[in-house]
Amino acid sequence: MIDYLVVGLGLAGISFCERLEENNKSFLVINDGSQTSSLVAGGLYNPVILKRFTLAWNADVQLETAMPFYNQLESKLGVKLDSKIPIYRKFASIEEQNLWFEAADKLRLANFLSTRIIENDNKNIDAPYGLGEVLHTGRIDTNTLVRAYESFLQEKEKLIRKTFDFNAMIVEKEHIAYNSLKARKIVFATGFGLKSNPYFNYLPLHGNKGELLTIKAPKLKENNIIKSAVFIIPLGDDLYRVGATYERTDKSNNPTDGAKNELLDKLHKFLKCDYDIVDHVAGIRPTVADRRPLVGLHPKYNNITVLNGFGSRGVLIAPTVSKQLYNHVEKGEALPKEIDVHRFLKRYSIKKS
Ligand SMILES: Cc1cc2nc3c(=O)[nH]c(=O)nc-3n(C[C@H](O)[C@H](O)[C@H](O)COP(=O)(O)OP(=O)(O)OC[C@H]3O[C@@H](n4cnc5c(N)ncnc54)[C@H](O)[C@@H]3O)c2cc1C
Repeated sequence: MIDYLVVGLGLAGISFCERLEENNKSFLVINDGSQTSSLVAGGLYNPVILKRFTLAWNADVQLETAMPFYNQLESKLGVKLDSKIPIYRKFASIEEQNLWFEAADKLRLANFLSTRIIENDNKNIDAPYGLGEVLHTGRIDTNTLVRAYESFLQEKEKLIRKTFDFNAMIVEKEHIAYNSLKARKIVFATGFGLKSNPYFNYLPLHGNKGELLTIKAPKLKENNIIKSAVFIIPLGDDLYRVGATYERTDKSNNPTDGAKNELLDKLHKFLKCDYDIVDHVAGIRPTVADRRPLVGLHPKYNNITVLNGFGSRGVLIAPTVSKQLYNHVEKGEALPKEIDVHRFLKRYSIKKS
């Protein structure tokens, strides 16, 4: 009998595995690579919503848990994950500059919005109204994290590379049986894959497809993340990630020409040098109707749990919310109501009847 079976190895699965490791719990992971969100993510951690200059949900608090979490993973896995890079928000007008200053006066934002307007000195970027710097930002290399964590688990023989088969799962009072395995509890951390989970498909997970390009632009020579209509994220070696798109209807992981053209149109509005496209990726963000994570116990079985709904901010949300789920399940600590799946109990009852 093991303590946990974890299904899914994106940011959600990895962060929960870390909580299990910290607490010396035994576990196995089943992962099939059918969802790509954590593999393709831009990986930005940025507490500010740059459209409206507001604080993202609880982002200041989440940042405090996230940074030591990823830094500790860097030492454990022996890889570089965290690049602390400022985000420069391009201003479109004087009006926007004023809105930025107004926002910087607010208590929870003051720590994140620099009150100095940066004059653009990169001739390959068009930014006549200057740029505002967001502080305490950067990028987690989520692709490297997933790959390194897979290797780490594989070495310990804790990873099963397969699609979870719901027909092979039997729910007993004290444990879950899965083929020849027995686990005290199971955690579903399957991102948009939740849609095909009969235990949790009552939850309002919508999904939002995102696509990103990688370009090589030797003349650009930009070390900061620039946010205009799209983000340009420096990766080193003259490579830059450009994105992302938001699309609600297409739920495949295939890159499309439509998204590519949309990104290039936006890029051309502020990039003034040549480049080559070297990569194009897509994934589905696990977004939720009320924009809050989906965390907690199944309404009927207290050994079946879910960790999902990180939307477009998995890097910041995962470390905090995985801890909340662990403390809820193992220590009986209450979950914040806004993330607890019990808020959708009515949907469960309707679906059942
Ligand atoms: C283009 C794009 C850009 C993004 N940029 C950022 C960003 O800059 N910053 C940020 O914080 N977030 C960003 N995100 C969002 C971020 O990627 C997500 O919030 C996060 O990765 C979700 O993690 P997850 O573990 O819940 O899901 P996933 O990463 O989708 O992982 C789920 C895992 O479960 C597996 N799985 C699913 N079903 C099954 C099954 N039946 N059996 C076995 N395994 C299964 C999947 O294969 C996958 O490995 C971006 C997303 C996209 C698409």
